[in-house]
Amino acid sequence: MINPFSKLGISDDVVNAVKELGFENPTPIQEQSIPVLLEGSNDFVGLAQTGTGKTAAFGLPLLELIDFKSNKPQALILCPTRELCLQIANDIKNFSKNTQNAHVVAVYGGANIMQQLREIRNGVQIVVATPGRMLDIIGRKAIDFSSVKYVVLDEADEMLNMGFQEDINDILSTTPDEKKTWLFSATMPPEVRRIARNYMENPVELTMGTKNTGNVNIEHEYYVVRARDKYAALKRIVDFNPEIFAVVFCKTKMDTQDVAEHLIKDGYNADSLHGDLSQQQRDKVMQRFRDRNMQLLIATDVAARGIDVNNVTHVINYSLPDEIESYTHRSGRTGRAGKTGISICIINSKETGKIRQIERIIGKQFTKAELPTGFDVCEKQLFSLIHKVHNVEVNTDQIDQYIPRIMDEFSELSKEDVIKKFASLEFNRFLDYYANAPDLNASADDRGERGERGERGERGGRNFDNSNYTRLFINVGSVDEFTRGDLLGFVCNNGKISGKSVGKIDLKGVFSFIEVENDTVDALFTNFKDIKFNGRDVRIEKSGEAPVGGRGGDGGERRRGGFGGERRGGGGYGAGERRSGGGDRRSSGGGRREGGNGGGGFRDFSGRSRDDKGGNTGGSGRREGSGGERRRRS
Ligand code: AMP
Repeated sequence: MINPFSKLGISDDVVNAVKELGFENPTPIQEQSIPVLLEGSNDFVGLAQTGTGKTAAFGLPLLELIDFKSNKPQALILCPTRELCLQIANDIKNFSKNTQNAHVVAVYGGANIMQQLREIRNGVQIVVATPGRMLDIIGRKAIDFSSVKYVVLDEADEMLNMGFQEDINDILSTTPDEKKTWLFSATMPPEVRRIARNYMENPVELTMGTKNTGNVNIEHEYYVVRARDKYAALKRIVDFNPEIFAVVFCKTKMDTQDVAEHLIKDGYNADSLHGDLSQQQRDKVMQRFRDRNMQLLIATDVAARGIDVNNVTHVINYSLPDEIESYTHRSGRTGRAGKTGISICIINSKETGKIRQIERIIGKQFTKAELPTGFDVCEKQLFSLIHKVHNVEVNTDQIDQYIPRIMDEFSELSKEDVIKKFASLEFNRFLDYYANAPDLNASADDRGERGERGERGERGGRNFDNSNYTRLFINVGSVDEFTRGDLLGFVCNNGKISGKSVGKIDLKGVFSFIEVENDTVDALFTNFKDIKFNGRDVRIEKSGEAPVGGRGGDGGERRRGGFGGERRGGGGYGAGERRSGGGDRRSSGGGRREGGNGGGGFRDFSGRSRDDKGGNTGGSGRREGSGGERRRRS
């Protein structure tokens, strides 16, 4: 039987390479575009979502059209983000693994330019680039685009959203007029149309699926809640989906951090991804997410662009995007590569109009969903637990030694009694936790913020009364590779305080500020007296006051000397040391999450977040699982 990719005109070397990647049949976009692009004589506009197999749709024809005997750049692929740039370059390297003398370079900001220049000097045929770094390299006259025959503009709408229009113009002006331009975009706003008009001649236009339609594998739901209940609603949704693996979108960096911090404090396995993180931090966060060591990635639109993580079960729009068009990009993070996914919007009643607008744009209807009750969550969690117990792999070697004693303990009980007791152990706690959980669904006409409750708790979610908090300085920060979640774990573990007592975390370079509840400050200071990080004293002090941690005595001087000097004095942080610090932090996170759950691998409902009867808890065993995983690695 002829391989379907061969039928489309792809050569054996490439067919064998994609076979190894598990590509058995072309995706619809590949089926439609490969024959057109293989002709090599047309400009092309492909209106396609991410996750549809776009990269191979243009990557495979490129490999057929390029002359690999020459070492000159012949194809330039421009894309909006470093993530996407790396993915495309990697994909094309994989497709061309059997192709002799094929060289692909990824050119993107935030990485060593010298290495990229070296690769270019050594000879490449395919350059995959983000616009900023590409211009930099062009400015250095370090690349010759006179042999470029094909330019691919991938996620063109996103590049324009990100303000790359001028950069693209400048870059394209260094390529030959006769080149062919292939443009891919999820949406076709007027600006993208303009590019198509300006740079292309009678492009062949293909629309994969209905124009602007979201992926057919994605279901769209919305929940209407009062604005103040948004956070509790988010938790309720997460709790109701014990196996959730989701990207949660917020509008601003601040919201992203806030939501992530609260989730972390409430024991969820979450972290944030936004533009204020260094590239290294972003890589770390993404790696954890990819490895499924993290369950909830809280991200801004820009930071999450181009993320290609398979098996994302849900996209949650914690806030709706300003640009309705961005909704397609957000929801495209789930339902990838033939999988199904759910895109959820948590909105207030004033925003239902926006949902209707999105429906018009994506050509699909949303389902108005009701937030589960506390009881629903309990039931779901209970059966998730039962299911896990049923499927757990028994480590006979380890457990056998305890079995006689365990059997002895249970000798008086029937099998049914044991099961009942065991199930009750968790279920009672679920019930207790969710007792009197309020209905978070807002009624259609509930436009105000009718404050019917005195308690704020998590239900109010994100408001801290700052008078209850003391702002502390601590001499570790992002240069130590701490994320805010790491720092939270570090402070809580070493200071022996609950994550619930921690307010804002302001992560700086060589130091950070952290707010803690006033009545925990003394204990924190005491416990931090002898704490070291990578062999260096950790100093923690009230912001603007003398230090209480560390070896004392030099606080005044340190304050005068400034943080930079102090840190340098504190000694270097070797990579190995840093890793061990990471180990500490990881184990602290694991310990915290694990704490008090009776070793059963399930969350301690009673031990965590308190007065919100409507929220908390996220995925029992899974968090412990990942904590355990991380501990093993540290
Ligand atoms: P893309 O839209 O290029 O980012 O691709 C989305 C995902 O689909 C990636 O993980 C690809 O590896 C995968 N993929 C692309 N084409 C195929 C194919 N023909 N068969 C199976 N998986 C594919």
